[in-house]
Amino acid sequence: MTSIRLYTEVELFSGASIVLGPQQSHYVNNVMRQKAGHCIFLFNGLDGEWRGEIREFGRGWCDILVLECTKKMTACADVWLLFAPVKKTRIDFIASKSTELGASAIQPVFTEFTSVGRVNIDRLKSNTIEAAEQCGALVIPEVRETKNLSEMLDFWPSERQLLVCDNRIGRAPILNALNNFKDRGSWAILVGPEGGFSEYELDQIQQKANPVFVSLGPRILRADTAVVAALTCWQSVFGDWASDIQ
Ligand code: SAM
Repeated sequence: MTSIRLYTEVELFSGASIVLGPQQSHYVNNVMRQKAGHCIFLFNGLDGEWRGEIREFGRGWCDILVLECTKKMTACADVWLLFAPVKKTRIDFIASKSTELGASAIQPVFTEFTSVGRVNIDRLKSNTIEAAEQCGALVIPEVRETKNLSEMLDFWPSERQLLVCDNRIGRAPILNALNNFKDRGSWAILVGPEGGFSEYELDQIQQKANPVFVSLGPRILRADTAVVAALTCWQSVFGDWASDIQ
């Protein structure tokens, strides 16, 4: 039987009673056809993962008794994903893949050549939750409101290393660049829009954020592919793919 794993905002501990709302209880009851006495896994981004037992269903609710911790909370990699918005379905892809790849925060960033006018932040959030439920993640990336690149650069936190994916000739290969850093520290990865970054933006990034510009190889990747490639490389050097952070 497929095990069900759900995100909740409620505190989790042995003996806690959790009442799921209409959407989650519909999923558990009508979609997954679970019954009282069946097991369910819960996580809230703070207390690890817990096994619970379904006690009762009502109209639009489901009562669960929390039994035992099945995964302890672990330290998470501190890497933000900053991306210029693309089309809806590709944003869905970016949200779910960056969750699976362990981004700690996701931030849409408007740039000069961004062609998409608005990002649905609630949709972004629900995609991250769904991805985290499915992939076994213990935390959901923080989904931030869209900002302009210039505004973001004006308040750039100096301790955070900015990795800018830039497909111009002459940028350092990403793995070479990452391997030059000894400490993991705090990072952010910036991926540009379909139209790329403007010269002015590259100049502003250089002046305000002490960035590392990197190449993801000789082919021009779609923005959503670039997100996956960059996070994959970052994880392989600093992230929880390293053996000491399991
Ligand atoms: N039309 C743009 C140009 O020629 O500059 C291409 C932009 S690309 C579709 C979207 C974003 O993905 C880029 O702004 C960059 O951040 C990233 N990207 C794509 N391919 C890349 C590569 N080979 N190296 C580094 N970044 C890349």
